[in-house]
Amino acid sequence: METLAERIKSALERISSTALKNKRAPNSVKLLAVSKTKPVSDIVLAYEAGQLSFGENYVQEGVEKIQHLQEFSDIEWHFIGPLQSNKTKQVAENFDWVQTIDRLKIARRLDAQRSAHKKLNVLIQVNINAEQSKSGVAPSDVVQLAEQIAQLPNLTLRGLMAIPAAQQSEHELQQTFDKMNKLFAELSIIYNQIDTLSMGMSNDIEPAIAGGSTMVRIGTAIFGTRTTSNKN
Ligand SMILES: *Cc1c(COP(=O)(O)O)cnc(C)c1O
Repeated sequence: METLAERIKSALERISSTALKNKRAPNSVKLLAVSKTKPVSDIVLAYEAGQLSFGENYVQEGVEKIQHLQEFSDIEWHFIGPLQSNKTKQVAENFDWVQTIDRLKIARRLDAQRSAHKKLNVLIQVNINAEQSKSGVAPSDVVQLAEQIAQLPNLTLRGLMAIPAAQQSEHELQQTFDKMNKLFAELSIIYNQIDTLSMGMSNDIEPAIAGGSTMVRIGTAIFGTRTTSNKN
């Protein structure tokens, strides 16, 4: 059986070889290790293997891990789950990034609750396949929300994030990622600091990177399957 360190190495190789295949620099795609529902001990193993960016979906679980691992001050923590307004304070005070901004109200609260010393990096989540059940803004609303977020002094808008619909054909999935890349390019023209297009998970790293992803969010391929759904 592969160790966690070996699985991280494989994920990094998969990322860099896919980037090269698409005529992109091998280090142009960052790996976010999605550690939701996994124990702190797994995060420490990944850290010891050199992994510094971790993604968490649930506020309470994430904050507990962050506080537990405070001495690992070079870890970068990304909040990647749905965020309700009554939990923004904990997120603003503990995380480095929030990838799931989909309305101004949440952005405003995070801005008000964030210390002015260190800005919170944020991504706008796009509901790229117009799914009823999914969070995210419509593609046509991205520029307006970006304008509003750009006014908030304690947030830095870094780009876009998407979770494509399941059950798409290979061709549809590629079109979905390409659409995201177009939106990302539009935003990059308007704002200098835009550098992150977060898309791609364990099962769709390749089309995501072909579509311009700069950050893939990998859980299962690193930490194994999740047995618990630790909602809190
Ligand atoms: C769980 C999760 C991932 C990781 O998915 P895997 O298929 O386990 O790689 C990525 N992004 C988000 C938003 C998630 O919730």
